[in-house]
Amino acid sequence: MDYNKLAELIFKDITGTVEELEERFPRRDLPEGAKVTRFAPSPTGYMHIGGLYAAMISRKIAKQSDGVFYLRIEDTDKKRELEDGVNEIINSLKKFDLTFDEGPFEGGENIYGPYKQSERKEIYQICVKELMKKGLAYPCFATAEELDAIRAKQEELKVDIGYYGEYAVARNYTYEEIEEKINAGMPYVVRLKSPGVLGNHVRYTDPIRGAIQMPENIMDVVLLKSDGIPTYHFAHVVDDHFMRTTTVIRGDEWLASWPLHKQLFDLCGFEQPAYVHISPIMKAEGTGKRKLSKRKDPEAAVGFYQEQGYPSESVLEYLMTIANSNYEEWHAKHTDKTIDDFTLSLKKMPVSGALFDMVKLNDVSKEMISTFTPEKCYDKIVTWSKEYDSQIYDFATSDKEGFMKTINLWKAAGKKARKDVGKWSDLKALFSYIYVPDDELVFNYEIDEKYTKEQLREVITEYKKDMFLDSENWFEDMKTMGAGLGYCPNVKEYKADPEGYKGSITDVCTMVRVAVTGKKNSPDLFTIMNVIGADRTVARLDRFLESLN
Ligand code: GLU
Repeated sequence: MDYNKLAELIFKDITGTVEELEERFPRRDLPEGAKVTRFAPSPTGYMHIGGLYAAMISRKIAKQSDGVFYLRIEDTDKKRELEDGVNEIINSLKKFDLTFDEGPFEGGENIYGPYKQSERKEIYQICVKELMKKGLAYPCFATAEELDAIRAKQEELKVDIGYYGEYAVARNYTYEEIEEKINAGMPYVVRLKSPGVLGNHVRYTDPIRGAIQMPENIMDVVLLKSDGIPTYHFAHVVDDHFMRTTTVIRGDEWLASWPLHKQLFDLCGFEQPAYVHISPIMKAEGTGKRKLSKRKDPEAAVGFYQEQGYPSESVLEYLMTIANSNYEEWHAKHTDKTIDDFTLSLKKMPVSGALFDMVKLNDVSKEMISTFTPEKCYDKIVTWSKEYDSQIYDFATSDKEGFMKTINLWKAAGKKARKDVGKWSDLKALFSYIYVPDDELVFNYEIDEKYTKEQLREVITEYKKDMFLDSENWFEDMKTMGAGLGYCPNVKEYKADPEGYKGSITDVCTMVRVAVTGKKNSPDLFTIMNVIGADRTVARLDRFLESLN
């Protein structure tokens, strides 16, 4: 077979050469040790938390080595592509400040682009043409039925399933046969003519998994589909080579295909990048664990965290604790530092899937939020609520002063930072005390049979006389007021002699709390009253007194 002639027949319009591509996409001029990494999603679904994890890791590896991190859109599967898939990915990563040095967005294109595979068809075809000229690729006209028949035979013989060796009948077509089929308009794919030998092994060292040994690829895999678009296997080899990727960081579902990828790099004459296979994020189920599933688990979608109002810093920091379990220890020693200051080690990444722990995420997030200034909280809450909670948004933007007071109330500014809020949606309950109209407040005092109506009436009426809203020490004033009504100002003393009093200062505060907030527990009562102001406080107290009638 004259493969040069075959290549000209199949790729008559392709005139470029691999040599030209090598010149067009030269080696990057980067400092020694700099890593070029990429995030290479397919725009076929919403952003998965595993995608965010992979992007964070790839970016970190590039940034900490003064390298380059770029975005490549693997959109070769047009059937599964979502309308706004690409923007979705870019916007979603932007919200996490995961920015790219290069990619298919304004300002991101440079000589290594285009960064969308659908715009690189010619580049792939040049490379396949070259392989064909070397006798390493050929057209295959097999129909689905023919492939099924091969499979059935292989199953019967209990041999490897696939298109290879003696089963790869299209390998043996003559030039004339091929020409005839093409002229007859028969559809075809272009396959690799794999020189792999059954029984041979290939090896590499994965920074996460250590030494890997696997059987060499023997399959004549499809390089170009019938529409001339490459498969992932081939496209990523060409792209990672010509975009000069040094380190391919990807999900471990691709580990099994590594021998094929190695073979393709070798046959194309390209230098291998380092391959790193990261394990997926898992969810505990029963006694075992499984991959977080887009279908079953809402928390699989990055959008879930945004909707709940987890600050992006919290999610990324939590993902960093999964990536490197020593991060926490490091962070405990360097509390003022962030993940940007931490050096991520691929070697220390988990080999088997790490469990996603929502409780831990919450804890990480509470710590994180406790370090935010009230102003930072305000800005973040406004950004979040604009999209996800119109009530909070309206409150925050129409009454910034009141809102800031509320934030300060919960953060207890000046005192020890509170760590009770892990996501902005948690604040809804807190803010609800403020923005609920006074005449819609629901009182839950009946739950507690401890206080009689008379008792409640007496305490609230007394409190209404002077609510101590301007007081330097509201609690002391409350104690004095309570003592006047027969409530012990000291809880310990009260416990020692419960018969001697109507109750303690705790009871006095609880009664006022129920009247003002409707609940026995609430964030700092004094500040709530100060935020809503004296008039609204009185309105609530009055309404409560009425409810006692
Ligand atoms: N498009 C592939 C995926 O989404 C990328 C794998 C890779 O990073 O090479 O799984």
